[in-house]
Amino acid sequence: MPDLRFQSRPPAHTEVPRPKRAEGQWAFGYTEPLNKNEQAKKDDDALNVRARIINIYSKRGFSSIDPADLRGRFRWMGLYTQRAPGFDGGKTAMLEEEELDDEYFMLRVRSDGQLLTGAAVRALGQIGVDFARDTADVTDRENIQYHWIRVEDVPEIWDRLDAAGLSSIEACGDSPRPFLGSPVAGVSVDEIIDGTPALEEIYRRFIGNPDFSNFPRKFKTAVTGHPGHDVCPETNDVSFVGTIHPEHGPGFDLWVGGGLSTNPMLAVRLGVWIPLDEVADAWAGVAGIFRDYGYRRLRSRARLKYLVADWGVDKFREVLENEYLERKLVSCPSPPSPVGHRDHIGVHAQKDGKFYVGIAPTVGRVSGTLLVQLADLIDEYGVAGARLTPYQKIVLIGVDEDKVESLVARLDEIGLSARPSNWRRNTMACTGIEFCKLAIVDTKERARLLVGELEKRFPDLDTPITVNVNGCPNACARTQVADIGLKGQLVMSDGEQVEGFQVHLGGATGLEANFGRKLRAHKVTSAGLDDYITNVVGNFLADRTADERFAA
Ligand code: SF4
Repeated sequence: MPDLRFQSRPPAHTEVPRPKRAEGQWAFGYTEPLNKNEQAKKDDDALNVRARIINIYSKRGFSSIDPADLRGRFRWMGLYTQRAPGFDGGKTAMLEEEELDDEYFMLRVRSDGQLLTGAAVRALGQIGVDFARDTADVTDRENIQYHWIRVEDVPEIWDRLDAAGLSSIEACGDSPRPFLGSPVAGVSVDEIIDGTPALEEIYRRFIGNPDFSNFPRKFKTAVTGHPGHDVCPETNDVSFVGTIHPEHGPGFDLWVGGGLSTNPMLAVRLGVWIPLDEVADAWAGVAGIFRDYGYRRLRSRARLKYLVADWGVDKFREVLENEYLERKLVSCPSPPSPVGHRDHIGVHAQKDGKFYVGIAPTVGRVSGTLLVQLADLIDEYGVAGARLTPYQKIVLIGVDEDKVESLVARLDEIGLSARPSNWRRNTMACTGIEFCKLAIVDTKERARLLVGELEKRFPDLDTPITVNVNGCPNACARTQVADIGLKGQLVMSDGEQVEGFQVHLGGATGLEANFGRKLRAHKVTSAGLDDYITNVVGNFLADRTADERFAA
């Protein structure tokens, strides 16, 4: 793999014209930083902040932290200052980000699709209990996210994570963010190929690697060999999706350029076949293109999706093959898209005769205490372990058949249902105003109340309807691909600005992948949300044809 990080010109065989206007693309020699984020990354590799946290900041306290580390490089260690209490959504746009800073941190721990043993789940829970005021949310990037973390406690937390085989490195920042892996990798009866070895190799070779620690912006990865495309590959920067080549057998198609937020784009398929042992090289190629050709001038245009949109599939593939892999890829029809999403909730047979059990905390909110209780059950029932899902859920892997019903009952007792209502199963919420400095509205608590109310109003709903609640336009809980996507904003009510949402209706991934329609009139106050959704769902149920799904 050639290192092109500071190469002034791409190799001679590449047909990539130098753009007329500088976009800050390293490959064309634009290495002078064009904004303060780029400057900070050039001043010092963000990975170096780890040593300063351990040796200086944790000993001297919050006030000793260099501002460039605090609001920049800390993110590469999964640390993000949380929103100070007392600032409503109206302050988000009026104040600078640092004015909203609390002296506590959010800490994100990556799982990267790995099977978490009982010991690992217990370690995660105990960290929440001991250092995070008992917080521990399951995110839709398969992370555990804590709040109320003090910088003084970070070295001890990292030691405990390390002992459990876990890490927070590059969980945030302009870096290879936490990977999404199939929650049922290696055990699903209809799996095309198990992508676990590829995820492990990408992690081993490239996470914490300075050659891949300075991207134009975040870089999201997903790998699945499951036919249900259970990692939402449409919304990742790079996805490897299981497919079968008629001659070569199981492998992966490569999708690039997905991303939501503003100007959402679905990933495009390169229509290639990549064998398992070449996935890590292909990942490095795509990541290298992003690093070298990605736009660094404007943060708002720095995601890979903009480059993919400008280049198109053919040129992207050509540059990948010619410059980064130095070989041609094998063409292969892209795998068919599944209908709907596959969340693995409930009890399902594995290919080894055991069972997996998907359970649903409400909008991903758990606690340290609850994770410790879950670890107790994993140990007591001899379960192989747990995986986190891209839908803020948990899947227990390797349950003996004769223990399934007893385990399901015990899980239910601690609030982790394997047979949840539609609303608990299909509602997600981002962090929101409780802790996020970019938030405009409350999300987690609002969504929890919404779930409870809709369970009363539609207790027997017979078709899945997904609701994704987001606190701002950044779409961390995937606003645009839900049946009912909610984007937090202030709305007018009786002449006053109050918390509310812009509604996106009819979004989906899979076979019907598209973005929900955003109608100007579809704005609702947070207080009016229960009634709004009741009306939308009630009208759908009254008017639907026999097999009509909500997204259709
Ligand atoms: Fe924060 Fe906005 Fe992301 Fe929600 S969508 S977590 S409010 S940045």
